[in-house]
Amino acid sequence: MKVLVINCGSSSLKYQVLQMESETLLCKGLVERIGIKGSVLKHEKIGQDKFVLEVPMNDHKDAIGHVLDAIVDENHGVAKSMAEIEAVGHRVVHAGEKYASSVKITEAVMQALEECTDLAPLHNPPNILGIRACQELMPNTPMVAVFDTAFHQTMPAESYIYAIPYEYYEKYKVRRYGFHGTSHKYVAERAAAMLGKPLNELKIITCHLGNGASVSAIKNGKCIDTSMGFTPLEGLVMGTRSGDIDPAIVTYIRQKENLPQGEMNNILNKKSGILGISGISSDFRDVEAAAEEGNYRAQLAEKVFAHKVRFYIGAYFAELNGADAIVFTAGVGENDMNMRDVICQNMDALGVKMDLVKNKVRGKETVISADDSKVKVLLIPTNEELMIARDTVALAND
Ligand code: ADP
Repeated sequence: MKVLVINCGSSSLKYQVLQMESETLLCKGLVERIGIKGSVLKHEKIGQDKFVLEVPMNDHKDAIGHVLDAIVDENHGVAKSMAEIEAVGHRVVHAGEKYASSVKITEAVMQALEECTDLAPLHNPPNILGIRACQELMPNTPMVAVFDTAFHQTMPAESYIYAIPYEYYEKYKVRRYGFHGTSHKYVAERAAAMLGKPLNELKIITCHLGNGASVSAIKNGKCIDTSMGFTPLEGLVMGTRSGDIDPAIVTYIRQKENLPQGEMNNILNKKSGILGISGISSDFRDVEAAAEEGNYRAQLAEKVFAHKVRFYIGAYFAELNGADAIVFTAGVGENDMNMRDVICQNMDALGVKMDLVKNKVRGKETVISADDSKVKVLLIPTNEELMIARDTVALAND
């Protein structure tokens, strides 16, 4: 069974086609600048050179039309006809409290997603556009929605309720939702496989450290806490997001700088984090290079980032009453051995002991803790698309 996985942003779209019997990736691609001058599709059939198409793409339907053409193309396609694509899995950011797992898309589901747009005004509308465009182009193909928030719906109320007047939860559903759920779930499952133990007997702390970053506490396969909150702004320091700050800072800076409505939101989401502290870049590679050359603010940005990850790991150790494993994943987690090392330093009291030689690795599933480390530290490349495709297979023909 071939499954198409789609992840739609406001002006970009990522996709993959997977052969699910063997769980192999057949092709992947990216459309950028949808609705903007200079639209481009970059398609890669695995094992072949990239195919690049530069044509105007006015909307998501245009873009998906070109993606489907590429998928069935004689030279760089992976299917003879669209009929071979038996199901489509869509990544959707926010399902509010409505869905605690993936769901086959019906009109009622679309309605529920529309109702959640208030909670994710930047993310859900393009996700919905992508689904609608696909439905028009592939009206008889079953589609499944896989949510970033779903995995975290198992959190107990003490983890998700904010200490603000309870009526805001009741009236506006202001609570912790958490994001990156598909990734946290995937690496937790892989961790159990690597440790050779059932997931429902393990306590795992998963660190998804990418441009966006979050940590989750997973007990017996269920998320009990996560660092992102009502929006993906809370928690760790990120590429351009502040993570946790004293909320009083918002009104204070707004007043001091006489900022217009909405500007603080922009500053905290787009101008803060690693970029804000270092003043150099949101990309860890640039910041690391500057730090190595002795740039104080770059060094500080790295230290603040690591401090916050350690802070959450410690908190989740307490919440879980110990942990069997800490997992690192996503861009920084998978590639930045120095950062992993700094994060896990001086944690021997918690039973964490890194092996600095084993840690000199990137992008592959492996144990990076010392053999006698009570807590195993694992490097696991995330694979959200595979997780989405698996759920799609499971639900498409329901
Ligand atoms: P997202 O999906 O949230 O955009 P990714 O998981 O792709 O993010 O991670 C992107 C981040 O990973 C960037 O900040 C990038 O600098 C960082 N990264 C990628 N490779 C390396 C590396 N070799 N060393 C340090 N950081 C890296």
